[in-house]
Amino acid sequence: MTAWRRPIAFVVVAGALSLPWAARVASAATEASVPAGVGLDLAGIDSSVAPGTDFFAYANGTWLKTTPIPPDRATYGVAAVVAERTGQRTRELIEQAAHAPAGSDTRKIGDYYTSFMDEAGIEAKGLAPLQPELDRIQAIRDRRALARLLGSTLRADVDVLNATNLYTDNLFGLWIAQDLDEPSRYVPFILQGGLDMPDRAYYLDPSPRMAEIRAKCQAHLARTLALAHVPDAEARAARIFELEHKIAEAHGTREDTADVQKGNNHWTRKQFDIAAPGLDWQEYFAAAGLGRQQDFVVWQPGAVTGLSALVASQPLDTWKDYLVFHAIEHRAALLPKAFGDEAFAFHGTELSGTPTRRERWKRAVDATSIALGEAVGRLYVERYFPPAAKARVEGMVRNILAAFGRRIDKLGWMAPATRVQARAKLAALKVGVGYPDRWLDYSGLQVVAGDAFGNSERAEMFELHRNLDKLGRTVDRSEWVMTPQTVNAVNLPAMNAMNFPAAILQPPYFDPDRPLAMDYGAIGATIGHEISHSFDDQGAQFDATGRLRNWWTPDDLAHFQASGAKLVQQYDAYKPFPDLAVNGKLTLSENIADVAGLAAAYDAYTLSLGGKPAPVVEGLTGDQQFFLSFAQSWRAKFREPALRAQVLEDGHAPDEYRADTVRNLDVWYDAFAVTPSQALYLAPGDRVHVW
Ligand SMILES: [Zn+2]
Repeated sequence: MTAWRRPIAFVVVAGALSLPWAARVASAATEASVPAGVGLDLAGIDSSVAPGTDFFAYANGTWLKTTPIPPDRATYGVAAVVAERTGQRTRELIEQAAHAPAGSDTRKIGDYYTSFMDEAGIEAKGLAPLQPELDRIQAIRDRRALARLLGSTLRADVDVLNATNLYTDNLFGLWIAQDLDEPSRYVPFILQGGLDMPDRAYYLDPSPRMAEIRAKCQAHLARTLALAHVPDAEARAARIFELEHKIAEAHGTREDTADVQKGNNHWTRKQFDIAAPGLDWQEYFAAAGLGRQQDFVVWQPGAVTGLSALVASQPLDTWKDYLVFHAIEHRAALLPKAFGDEAFAFHGTELSGTPTRRERWKRAVDATSIALGEAVGRLYVERYFPPAAKARVEGMVRNILAAFGRRIDKLGWMAPATRVQARAKLAALKVGVGYPDRWLDYSGLQVVAGDAFGNSERAEMFELHRNLDKLGRTVDRSEWVMTPQTVNAVNLPAMNAMNFPAAILQPPYFDPDRPLAMDYGAIGATIGHEISHSFDDQGAQFDATGRLRNWWTPDDLAHFQASGAKLVQQYDAYKPFPDLAVNGKLTLSENIADVAGLAAAYDAYTLSLGGKPAPVVEGLTGDQQFFLSFAQSWRAKFREPALRAQVLEDGHAPDEYRADTVRNLDVWYDAFAVTPSQALYLAPGDRVHVW
């Protein structure tokens, strides 16, 4: 369930490919700080810190002291370094693609990129590419026409369970995936959307900081309209903001949205008219390409009811102004520079503290890499992910699965019947390494040289139709949800599958030329993390076929929750700021996965030694290499707003505390001679062993 870490790119799905804040993805040219030959960054260690006092600072302290956060980033660390290296490599591949034969997928990559890079051409066109959409909005005379226009904005741009992208700037978002009650078929999921800011809390939280952000948001709306020469921009912005505030009030909370049981609401088409009157659903779904669909899943029913009522109750002119603003903002990155700069000033600088907008080529690489994701991925894999690397990772996966199986067998608390089902689920698990078995076909996507704006629109529509086409077909469990060039990993609960993209399979996460202890400590722990999600409180809700069916007994759950309680306390005690602690409950599932993943990776590493002693490297034992590699794989620095945002919103604890997972493993105490007087020491009874 959910990605292994907060995405380096905050917006990674095709539907949102042109949003200005998608600009936070990968970037340029800092090379990895891990020198070749050793496999660990020994120079980055701060030996003045005792490992038992602060393991993260011990493993990374010198690097932390000597490395500034680049001005175009909100956070910086190994994930960013790897993303930058990948971005640089992807850029070379994309630039070479411009010379491929016309009509090929490779040439489309080149043309998409070159069009995005044509800043002068984009300036010269001004707002002309947007004019047809603005005309359609101005032509709205009644609520039926409003419903049609809103329906035409629906995109396949959200994902509840896999990549967990919950944000869409359109009024609603669409996710087409397995029916959780009947996993052999696809069903459309409808999610709430329509806000300019990331979450309802930005509109409703009473803190002074949020009040300040709201004032700045309204000013941003006004400036955007003024840039487009919309008259009375200030007054319109005030009304749009008021409407967004009402939308936020109707939105479900993040906690409820994360609760699968609360989200899995099957609605017939007729139920929309009865339970959510206001919006003309007939017109809406017809315009969205779902006119004949009879059944849906409504993830936040309160929001669908509330937003539909607002479509009827709020003035038509306010909705038209709202649509004008969102039409501009949605493609700000593809309009003249002033629009993208304005969107960045608010979303990048104000909301996440990033001073500088990233260079155009980096944004162009990201946009291309999303629009033609698997076509770019194919080039990437051919160049950078040889079969030998894939084979080594697959060997690690086999060992980690075996280690996990042994842990399941040894679990004292799990009922025998539950254990049988856990074993069945483990056996059916489909672990994808590097890239999908079959590549997506982009022959249906038209890319026109010199038309960046149109290309972006067509890429969104291609992705929408690719998803709509799934309805009525057999579910394809081999489909990937991340591209090979994504630096992340993901568990797909309804598919009982996981993806480990090629781009995360590089140093310092993975390096076929270094001792296995280091690979198990880094990528091995990530693989273990993802596998454990299939068997945790979230995974317990999905059986081996992906059906939403709890296969645990109440006793199993009670024991699991009791183990969790200790881990909640452990994380609640971490305070990145005097006034803000990590939320142990919000991050519990991820923290359990970190503990379980590290433990399974350690077992698998031991298994891989086959009884022989581990090679010593630079005086470090195999166990020391394993744990150091783990802590260095969490190396990261944050700007304050970004760290605060992560603590408040994200299901993952900040990277520093994820490195401290080690304190739950007995072997770590031996490896670094940790004593009871040291800060990270936990009495044996306080160490959490869930699995
Ligand atoms: Zn996770």
